[in-house]
Amino acid sequence: MNKTNPIAPRVSGTRLWSRLMEMAEIGATSQGGCNRQALTDGDREGRKLFGSWATAAGCSLRVDAIGNIFVRRPGRDDTLPVVMTGSHLDTQPTGGKFDGIYGVLAGLEVVESLNDRAVETRHPIEVAVWCNEEGCRFPAAMMGSAVWSGRMPLAGAYALTDRSGLSVRQELERLGVDISSPMSRQAVKAAFEVHIEQGPVLEQRAKTIGVVTGVQHMSRHEVIVRGQEAHAGPTPMDMRKDPIRVLADVLPALYAAAARHGQHARLTVGIIETSPGSPNTVPGQLRFTVDLRHPDGAQYRSLRNEVDGLVHAALERQGLEGSIRCVWEAPGVMFDPACIAAVRHAAAALGCEAMEIVSGAGHDSCNTASVVPTSMIFIPCAGGLSHNEAESAAPKDLETGANVLMHAMLSLAK
Ligand SMILES: [Zn+2]
Repeated sequence: MNKTNPIAPRVSGTRLWSRLMEMAEIGATSQGGCNRQALTDGDREGRKLFGSWATAAGCSLRVDAIGNIFVRRPGRDDTLPVVMTGSHLDTQPTGGKFDGIYGVLAGLEVVESLNDRAVETRHPIEVAVWCNEEGCRFPAAMMGSAVWSGRMPLAGAYALTDRSGLSVRQELERLGVDISSPMSRQAVKAAFEVHIEQGPVLEQRAKTIGVVTGVQHMSRHEVIVRGQEAHAGPTPMDMRKDPIRVLADVLPALYAAAARHGQHARLTVGIIETSPGSPNTVPGQLRFTVDLRHPDGAQYRSLRNEVDGLVHAALERQGLEGSIRCVWEAPGVMFDPACIAAVRHAAAALGCEAMEIVSGAGHDSCNTASVVPTSMIFIPCAGGLSHNEAESAAPKDLETGANVLMHAMLSLAK
């Protein structure tokens, strides 16, 4: 922080921290994390606690038909589009105390800090709690923001079921969400989301603020190679149809391709499965996955094409049948230049060590960015660890991120 240029107002880091710790008690796990999956009793309790804080702060509260909560602080001209911030309160089964929750409570902290100093804004301010961001219980990540932005039909979201067969619709009703509420999208001037980085870059570069310029292009691919089951003893090496040969052939080529696409390319072989999976049988089939990511669209497409070509070449060299197919693809997102600039200027005015960064993970902001000007702010998390009970972030960094959020919002709401 730059002490010679104190810009006001500032958030209360201690209030933000105490709220994070109080929220973390709901669904607390033995290893210090949180299990508050979407639309469970724990989620209901967390949403209730948040609602009580927001109401006490003088905000009005609205819940839409998919269970997104919008907390509103009126503007001087309350008919103007809102300046919005938000994130999610739901967690992974072995999640942390900060992923998502920080973005929601930092938004509330902005509202309270403006109240404390009687700062009025011309535009209304809203804090959103997006429903089911994690997508672990109901298999659609970023569900609430997807419905809000029109990227997922409401009926499709309602029909999603968890492992026990309960649907999103049933669980929303059980939690008291009025599913006849309007599913309308309010006018938004700008949307921001502050989030822990969930990666190690800021920490390693000793930066407090990541000015997030966008989200990587990403896709998941499945490779199947067919071989022939055979006895590991009597079958000579040159008389086998061994699909693992293709894996051995293609892996070095895949890693080399990733390296050729620069330091921002990501290639992960996360699943390798053989069938029947016996130590003394040549596998009859091999299945492996390739997850590809790159922030640059042209580089991403070129890497995708190369990976396709390399798999086909290895199949041909080894004389085996097989295929590669894309099972999931999420196009990259470029955030709004004016919103990015607002974050950059706020970080500079507050004297933060900041750097530009591209998100490696998906966020609700990917959905809002498709319909309203959006950008994000990252702060470091210890060891880059997230989706982990040990997830942790420093109180000072959490406070700084909330201050940057507040000043980015103020620059557009005033
Ligand atoms: Zn998150």
